[in-house]
Amino acid sequence: MKITAVETHVCHARMRNWVFVKVLTSEPGLHGWGEATLEWHTRSVVGAIEDIAELIVGEDPSRIEHLWQMMHRQHFWHGNGIVRSTAISGIDLALWDIAGKVAQLPCSRLWGGPVRDWVRTYCHLGGGNMEKFYETTVDDARRFGELAAEAVAEGFTAMKSMAVPPTMPLEGLRPVKLAEAAVAAMRDAVGDEVDLMVDCHARPSPAMGMRFARALDDYGLYFLEEPCWPESVEGLAAINHAVTTPIATGERVIELADFDRIFAARGCEVCQLDITHCGGLTAARRVAALAERHRIALAPHNPQGPVSTAASLEFGFSQPSYVICETVHEDVPWRSDVVREGFTVEREGRRVRPNERPGLGIEIDEAEVKRHPFQQELPQRVFYPDGSVGDW
Ligand SMILES: [Mg+2]
Repeated sequence: MKITAVETHVCHARMRNWVFVKVLTSEPGLHGWGEATLEWHTRSVVGAIEDIAELIVGEDPSRIEHLWQMMHRQHFWHGNGIVRSTAISGIDLALWDIAGKVAQLPCSRLWGGPVRDWVRTYCHLGGGNMEKFYETTVDDARRFGELAAEAVAEGFTAMKSMAVPPTMPLEGLRPVKLAEAAVAAMRDAVGDEVDLMVDCHARPSPAMGMRFARALDDYGLYFLEEPCWPESVEGLAAINHAVTTPIATGERVIELADFDRIFAARGCEVCQLDITHCGGLTAARRVAALAERHRIALAPHNPQGPVSTAASLEFGFSQPSYVICETVHEDVPWRSDVVREGFTVEREGRRVRPNERPGLGIEIDEAEVKRHPFQQELPQRVFYPDGSVGDW
């Protein structure tokens, strides 16, 4: 069996363009699906996949590790930049999908799973709906409470919000008090039984991240995400050591060496590797082994499309340290028209029961994808009050 072609199918899903990757083989009807969604970089990733395809067309798709080495190390430049790493990830996911189909086993069973009966999921406040996301500002604590109550009514037991505003490297009490009020409103709305998470989007400096972390520590967050840039390993470690709230990071980390640096410094308690960015399931399994050695929990970053979700869940059914999977369910109303999924989600509790179909258990409806062609994502840019550039 040989790889005959690598295709990309771009599907505009409002906040992002989903980049689906289809790897075709010489075996009639046998193909695999992957995903390489990278917001605001769609054209670059599609181009990178075209470049990499040259290395692997004609090769045996079952030699996944060998192909990963080719994709990562050949063409001189290592695959450790976000565009190429995302492209590799999309192809790698499709190769694992093919491997599962050949073995007639769900991917999680290829890796010795399932290790659990169900996977817990959490939602974004507002379900990933673009308007609810962009129009809920941190100075509107009441709205945070309302949306949190909505998520509980929809069956979720855990949810995440961006309750921390963009801040300059140093600011006074105001943003800290706003964040505290938003979190307090959510806690009031949902009680102590529901888990709340706050994503700082790596907006704060380590000093401001420390302030937010300390101010929110008494609210018992399940985790506090990206309280500073992931490059600031010492900042993450200082914050993680200073508070009882578990610190989470990893969605922008792609190199095993960088995960190693963060883990070794104890910069986090939760690793949010993104399977569609860190080098696919092949690389994610290496990161998971490293996290296991440090007893760090896994909670993959997954706001993207349905192939990313299927891969993140197969991974969850095979990894003992996995605690929860990020999901979005209201990004586009036609999400379920694009994909046929093998797993089932229980509405009450939003637990996912395992996929029993081969591979990732999904099929993408290419005709439906064509109804949503590429559109440029809306730019999201932050400028501080003095006009200088901030992080979104
Ligand atoms: Mg995040």
